Amino acid sequence: MKSTRKGLRDDDLYKDTYQRLTCTDCEKVLNTTTDSNTVFDLRTCPECGTQYKDLP
Ligand SMILES: [Zn+2]
Repeated sequence: MKSTRKGLRDDDLYKDTYQRLTCTDCEKVLNTTTDSNTVFDLRTCPECGTQYKDLP
């Protein structure tokens, strides 16, 4: 799984005008899942299901 930082660098993701992480292919804002068992939030595209880890 890529990190959001890598996704942004690879142009898989971009930030919209509200600074929200958005999937480049689907133009959908990523959902955020916070899991208390992990140190990172999970960011998921609601369209293609690609997941990224949002490292602090
Ligand atoms: Zn997508």
